[in-house]
Amino acid sequence: KEVQKQPLRRAVIEAEPRQFDYEEIATLMQPMTSRAFVKIQDGCDNFCSYCIIPFVRGKSRSRDPQEIKKEIRMLVDNSYQEIVITGIHTGGYGRDLANYSFSRLIREICEEIIGLYRLRISSIEATEIDDDFIALLASSSVIADHLHIPLQSGSETVLKRMNRRYRISDFIKTVEKVRQARPGIAITTDVIVGFPGETDAEFDETVALIRAISFSELHVFPFSKRENTAAAKMSDQVESEVKKKRVNTLLKISEELHRDYEQNYYGKTLDVLFEDFNEADQTYRGHTSNYLEVHLKCQENLSGKVSSITYRGPKNSELKKA
Ligand code: SF4
Repeated sequence: KEVQKQPLRRAVIEAEPRQFDYEEIATLMQPMTSRAFVKIQDGCDNFCSYCIIPFVRGKSRSRDPQEIKKEIRMLVDNSYQEIVITGIHTGGYGRDLANYSFSRLIREICEEIIGLYRLRISSIEATEIDDDFIALLASSSVIADHLHIPLQSGSETVLKRMNRRYRISDFIKTVEKVRQARPGIAITTDVIVGFPGETDAEFDETVALIRAISFSELHVFPFSKRENTAAAKMSDQVESEVKKKRVNTLLKISEELHRDYEQNYYGKTLDVLFEDFNEADQTYRGHTSNYLEVHLKCQENLSGKVSSITYRGPKNSELKKA
């Protein structure tokens, strides 16, 4: 079955286009950190049935690629080593530009910004992971070993009601391609539970798919109504007790999956980019490329440095001797 398109709603949008330009904002630099966030686009055209964003943020519009690269260059010149690419619908970047795409932007950043240690993509839809992006993942050592790919539901029928634009089989194929290009990559995801009409059987399909894909962590959200969205008006809303139970089930699975994932790295040498000093436990805090968090006690100031460690869990890892 094809995911239902909504021509009527799209026609309304085109008849009354909301005029939003991309607003340039000043770069926010946080002292004592090595990671900066760079926004590349705003808005979204997807109209998932539960989401208010297309109504309040307008159509997807991309920031000028030259401005993005200029900002990243400036951040790298100011000692920022990791750049996190963000947006409302990051992978939609470039659709409103002539002959430009998200993959092209990422390629140009990786190739042109000399000195950039790590580029992390905050989130990307499975439908936007194209062959160019897969090729980049395979060839670039700058792109972090971590992708956040929102699944939302593992049930074909729920996805259809959500107006998501992929089928389960497409999602699985994309994950396979990503893993072929980058074996061991951390793949995290978002899941909404208790979407209107979600039955026990549909929830079980989600659980089964999550286990089959073996994400490294889940971000779990109970469905909540957003005014004027299609999902808010759907009958058959799920009771809050049921939602709570389903959230707890997925949170437990997320813990298990994360433990399984990180245990693969015990005893291995990993590079950590240390971000800051945590006063509470007097440790330096950083992340590996595949987003394992590490807290380390050390006499030397590690903030802003990349150091090799032997991974033994978040709090017991050891610095490798130079
Ligand atoms: S959930 Fe994401 S893709 Fe869907 S409408 Fe909202 S911003 Fe767009």
